[in-house]
Amino acid sequence: MSLLKVEGLGKSYTADKKILKNIDFEIKAGEFVSIIGPSGAGKSTMLRCMNRMIEFNEGKIIFNNQDVGSLNKKELRKLRTNIGMVFQHYNLVPRLSVIENVLHGRYGYKTTLQGLLGRYTEEEKERAFYLLEKLGIHEHAYKRCDQLSGGQQQRVGICRALIQEPKLILCDEPIASLDPNSSKVIMDHLKSISLEMGITCLVNLHQVEVAQHYSDRIIGLNNGEIVFDGNGRNLGEEQ
Ligand code: ADP
Ligand code: ADP
Repeated sequence: MSLLKVEGLGKSYTADKKILKNIDFEIKAGEFVSIIGPSGAGKSTMLRCMNRMIEFNEGKIIFNNQDVGSLNKKELRKLRTNIGMVFQHYNLVPRLSVIENVLHGRYGYKTTLQGLLGRYTEEEKERAFYLLEKLGIHEHAYKRCDQLSGGQQQRVGICRALIQEPKLILCDEPIASLDPNSSKVIMDHLKSISLEMGITCLVNLHQVEVAQHYSDRIIGLNNGEIVFDGNGRNLGEEQ
């Protein structure tokens, strides 16, 4: 069953340059898809069009039978709970604790003079802790997230996306700032999230080998156009 369908997608930031041109693809529920391509190809722009973090100019995006382009503000908020995002630079709130960053992803700020945690229900905190445990960082739950390593912060970022119980997660270069060991940990977690939780993953990557190792399918983007869409097994040989 198709979860995401993109038809004739086009995007320009300025009148003189088209960043995305006539992009078509369809993603089935449960697929793990990598998008690869050189820097500036339009990968990040494309990913951000899916939940309208960036507004697109042409074409159509259908997510879970909804026409993304025609959603009003309230519907768009709902859509964004169904589509989680993971960023290269984690985008956490540095002064908050790990667990607060995760809770914030679903329940927003609940400020009190006694600190933030006091206002979240036990059930909300348990859910956040459960996810931190799944990603193996529960022992850091009450540390400020800026005390964690990059790889640990990215795991917090993934928990923040997961707490919304998304159907799809968009990962924009999730390992581009990490060393090889941390990169492997993050990619292994993303893979098991996809396999165990059945969450569809769309991941921007720049290393072909990583994409080949983890994905069911690789979409190659160059100069705003899809130049490849397949299992990617012989991609290295062509280059
Ligand atoms: P990638 O993720 O493949 O590196 P991007 O989507 O980040 O590619 O960028 C594609 C092109 O769009 C680049 O030429 C970039 O400079 C340009 N671009 C990205 N964001 C903006 C923006 N907000 N305004 C203008 N140009 C942008
Ligand atoms: P990240 O790596 O965290 O995804 P980037 O460094 O790719 O962030 O981009 C940071 C911001 O700058 C993004 O919002 C992107 O849209 C914007 N941006 C990227 N390229 C350009 C550009 N050529 N002109 C204007 N804004 C840009």
